[in-house]
Amino acid sequence: MIVPSMTFVSTVQAVLATGARPRFADIDPGTLCVTADRVAQALTPAVRAVIPVHYGGRAVDLDPLQDLLDRRGVLVVEDAAHSFGSHQDRRLVGADPRTVTCFSFGPIKNLTCGQGGMIIPRGRPDAATARRLRMLGVTDTAAQRAASPTYTVAGPGFRAQLPALNAAIGLVQLEHFPATVAARQRLWRAYRSALANVEGITLVDVDIDRSVPHLCTIRVPADMDRDLVFRALREHGIAVGVHYPPDHLQPAFAAWRCPLPHTERAGHEILTLPFHPHLTEDDTQRVAAELDHALTLAGRRP
Ligand SMILES: *Cc1c(COP(=O)(O)O)cnc(C)c1O
Repeated sequence: MIVPSMTFVSTVQAVLATGARPRFADIDPGTLCVTADRVAQALTPAVRAVIPVHYGGRAVDLDPLQDLLDRRGVLVVEDAAHSFGSHQDRRLVGADPRTVTCFSFGPIKNLTCGQGGMIIPRGRPDAATARRLRMLGVTDTAAQRAASPTYTVAGPGFRAQLPALNAAIGLVQLEHFPATVAARQRLWRAYRSALANVEGITLVDVDIDRSVPHLCTIRVPADMDRDLVFRALREHGIAVGVHYPPDHLQPAFAAWRCPLPHTERAGHEILTLPFHPHLTEDDTQRVAAELDHALTLAGRRP
């Protein structure tokens, strides 16, 4: 399966969990997403699936490649953990009937259920498979089981259903979602203008007019020590992070390592700024000022 290395480790572990092998693809340095070109380059006759990751909320569009992928029987499974509410062209992520889309509703995602997620199948057969797999292979609904002295186990399965308790949280979150979208877009734009005055850094583009941003990622200049900037900001109480240390360099995935120059370079330069809907525009200005200070400490050239 083709998968980017610039993603949370779970994307790659999901590949291994199916018994497949990852084939790592490089990214576009401006968006940190895979592109149709990169996927096409990674395609071999052995590839059965492609997992684009909508990094930061930006929806990867593999439409130019879809006919070729269909002809070869290659399934597109979108890792949409970052992109609930974002648009792919004019369509909401998840609405493409030719792809399987996987959302995460973990605690920090655009929409949260506390934990859990959602799969958007291509049609009824996919949906039936997903329902069976999530409930230990049992094909009867809870209502059917309650009304019957037996049940049917039709195949293998896991215990992976979204608990009703978590779903209840999600339903309330969903009511507030339009406000969340507005806040996330407003804050990302506020960061963009605050960061315009910070010399030397670049902002990773999320296609803000069509996306619900999940991360605000910057790149420090290539000749600077990103880890120094990271620590300086942490010491000043700014909760920066790194999304993500490249997966293909992890010991667990060494068997499938291959050179990915854009990913490796980004791995040394990226820094994610604090980003959640309860920040204020003042907060973004403070973060930008602290970042400017940290870059000077870390030896930015004028
Ligand atoms: C959060 C995240 C996941 C995992 O989601 P879970 O709900 O924890 O399974 C997968 N991929 C990416 C890119 C993520 O950020």
